Amino acid sequence: MTYFSHIERLLWLKSHTLVEKQCMLWVGTTINYRGVTYGRVKTRLCKTGSCKNYYVHILAFMMHNHTFITPHEVISHLCGNSLCLNVELLSREPHSVNCRGKFCHAHNSCNGHFDYLDCILF
Ligand SMILES: [Zn+2]
Ligand SMILES: [Zn+2]
Repeated sequence: MTYFSHIERLLWLKSHTLVEKQCMLWVGTTINYRGVTYGRVKTRLCKTGSCKNYYVHILAFMMHNHTFITPHEVISHLCGNSLCLNVELLSREPHSVNCRGKFCHAHNSCNGHFDYLDCILF
């Protein structure tokens, strides 16, 4: 088992799937950031790295895509569920685009996000 798959397994074990919405919801530790609840886990990204807190949806995205997210980017929830880890419902975007889960989902309609993916409304 690679180190990355160890983290993926941890994320998988601590979430449960909402079949009807395809969301995989985190059931572990959460924090509140600006009124939104996010899953958080303390881990290290490589065996020699230091332990840090990571948002679980960002971890899930990085693990799945074998990539790293810069401080200028966000991982948006297309489904509007801030606790969701389903990588199919996550989108990598610059900060300026990220307003999902607020307006679109509150009004149940998506007006588009420039060149980025539309929200998924169930
Ligand atoms: Zn979701
Ligand atoms: Zn939208």
